[in-house]
Amino acid sequence: MKLLYEGKAKKIYEADNPNEVICEFKDSLTAFNGEKAASESGKGELNCAITTLIFKALEKEGIPTHLIKQIDSTKLLVKKVDIIPIEVVVRNIAAGSLSKRLGLKEGEKLPFTIVEFYYKNDDLNDPLINDDHAMILNLVNDRKELDILREYGRKINEFLTKFFDKIGLTLVDFKVEFGKDKDGHIILADEITPDSCRLWDKKTGKKMDKDLFRFDLGDIKEAYTEILKRLKEVK
Ligand code: UDP
Repeated sequence: MKLLYEGKAKKIYEADNPNEVICEFKDSLTAFNGEKAASESGKGELNCAITTLIFKALEKEGIPTHLIKQIDSTKLLVKKVDIIPIEVVVRNIAAGSLSKRLGLKEGEKLPFTIVEFYYKNDDLNDPLINDDHAMILNLVNDRKELDILREYGRKINEFLTKFFDKIGLTLVDFKVEFGKDKDGHIILADEITPDSCRLWDKKTGKKMDKDLFRFDLGDIKEAYTEILKRLKEVK
């Protein structure tokens, strides 16, 4: 397989069909823009399974995704897209960079769900941007596309909040990325995993996401395995 691109958590390979690519989930873990790095054997497999389950559920809800099918334990066949270099972050509860920037206590429920845009650019440390910034950087064609990103972000949040609630998890915040397919349609791409979400156990309040790795709080493999187990039980 011809490797087209290697990122921090995934490798992208050429597929037989030029409109498709193969996405492999790696075991590597990074945080703080790559400053902290490690590897956890089996993490790629867990995240591949978790993303597949979530993307399939979102498709059923009418949210278009790049997923075509799972090929093996760490690989997905996906539609080839041009990634829009914007990280769409949706937040229900204060945590992470929001708490830091605005001085909000971690765990404080926000009066309403907020959506933020970050410019995907490692050299600049993925800065927070507004619509005007996205326009002057030509990250999208027009402002309507930014509205579509926000709308999809909110729709995904509404669905996932209920979905995770059913399995005893609070969805604190998450990041999603979108791409344009060959027809120019905006579809959900990348991943939705405990690497890209904050998930807290409702009973114990324990963190079950990448914050375990970011702040050396516990075993991510155990937490991700538990999330996958619970997701498989969702009716
Ligand atoms: N996030 C992500 N990738 C990034 C930045 C953030 O997946 O490059 C996720 C993160 O896991 C959390 C949410 O987006 O669920 C909000 O992250 P925040 O801005 O608080 O950033 P942090 O500094 O904590 O990564």
